[in-house]
Amino acid sequence: MIYHSTRSLENGVNAREALLKGLCDDGGLYVSDELLTCVLTPDMLKGLTYRETALRVFSVLLSDFTKTELAEGIERAYADNFASVAVTPVTRVGDEFLLELHHGPTSAFKDVALCMLPQLMSAALKDTGRRVMIATATSGDTGKAALSGFMNVPGIGITVFYPHGKVSDIQYLQMATQEGRNVAVAAVEGNFDDVQSTVKKIFASDLRQELADEGVELSSANSINIGRLVPQVVYYFDAYRQLVEANEVEQGAKVDFCVPTGNFGDVLAGYYAYRMGLPVRHFIVASNANNVLTDFLTTGVYDRNRPFVKTITPSMDILISSNLERMLYYASEGDTALIARLMENLRNEGVFRVEGEMLERIRSLFKCGWADDAETSAMIREAWRKDGRLVDPHTAVALKVARERADRSVPCVVLSTASPFKFCRDVYIALTGRPLEGDPDGFAYMDALSGLTSENAPAPLAGLRSMPVLHKAVVRPEGMAGFIRAAVARAF
Ligand SMILES: *Cc1c(COP(=O)(O)O)cnc(C)c1O
Repeated sequence: MIYHSTRSLENGVNAREALLKGLCDDGGLYVSDELLTCVLTPDMLKGLTYRETALRVFSVLLSDFTKTELAEGIERAYADNFASVAVTPVTRVGDEFLLELHHGPTSAFKDVALCMLPQLMSAALKDTGRRVMIATATSGDTGKAALSGFMNVPGIGITVFYPHGKVSDIQYLQMATQEGRNVAVAAVEGNFDDVQSTVKKIFASDLRQELADEGVELSSANSINIGRLVPQVVYYFDAYRQLVEANEVEQGAKVDFCVPTGNFGDVLAGYYAYRMGLPVRHFIVASNANNVLTDFLTTGVYDRNRPFVKTITPSMDILISSNLERMLYYASEGDTALIARLMENLRNEGVFRVEGEMLERIRSLFKCGWADDAETSAMIREAWRKDGRLVDPHTAVALKVARERADRSVPCVVLSTASPFKFCRDVYIALTGRPLEGDPDGFAYMDALSGLTSENAPAPLAGLRSMPVLHKAVVRPEGMAGFIRAAVARAF
């Protein structure tokens, strides 16, 4: 499969190369036009296990990897890492369904992709003599999942940057306690958009060339990397199969997916599944108070010139949804000049507009809605009291938006993206209406939440209690390139 930039048809590369590079040299994202013709329908996946489905999906989208490389990678990624044998089980919550994506080693949906990405990168690097330094911006969950996936993988180093003071206590500890000789972690003064845009700038800077001259490729583990997206396509197909097997959906009938959205990576993976042949009526893009996507899908105007709101759903506190660029590419029917222009406007003025038929095409498939913190907390309470389900704030945003959708005539699958125990404080306060007294830390809330609900925190989160903090660096955005340089020197 040939991948090229969303902003130009030139310099096409195969999937291996696209995966190692992460981001195109012109700043665009790798897309493949073959996505428009490849076919995978639910009847082709009938009766398959998660891992078998994964092999079918990977074989199509990453066709230049060998079957053996893919099958071995899938085995290593999904055989033992997930606390559920189904990997991503679908369960009922009232009239909706939850697609539970948080049973991996770091309790967020990012694990599904980040258990697999290191396998793919290792296979792509094998016998090339090349090395890779991953530089990743995280709003909280990607960082730990990437650190955990890439820890001590030969030939690969990883540097993670997160916005200082803007991740949950548990998320902070997950990253700050990470072991491994090839890992580096720093807090950055700024918000997630500052961190992400600086990483993107570094990719387009001299540092990338300098490192390449030393045989070290700078790459990304963010959802701009196709190696992140492809593993996420799998669970959309697998969720549909589960619904059919449970007699909730007739084979071939359409369903809705409601997705808590930040960088537009998760919902984009669903769109890929749809383009390949999954019967979907609507994707419902659920946002928090940083509702730039709700406005875009309502008016066609994407305008990031607005206050950045810190919410109880930090993984969705994003005003520049990078992967939207890929959806726009396909919705424009491959108009790279248009995409280059829109992204130029976004960079220079913070705004772009989509109109006419293209907007109609987008709006007929993508619906939207948003929830503020009070509504999110109310939904956490409702899910617990009415449905007996403890959900994390991100899942609650999507559940609220799903329950408010205009037409509820087809089943709706809500993507459940994190364990509630990653956000103990806010979930506890949502349930009880008040914080604990004194000066409680994240673990006091973990205990209180367990006491209140009789549910246990996943073992890796509970285990953080006894782990030493290893990473204390705080840098300014200008210091990030230097931090990566130092990490390269240490990792290899
Ligand atoms: C990353 C994340 C999201 C947003 O996913 P995108 O792919 O960035 O749209 C939602 N919920 C949780 C818990 C996350 O970690």
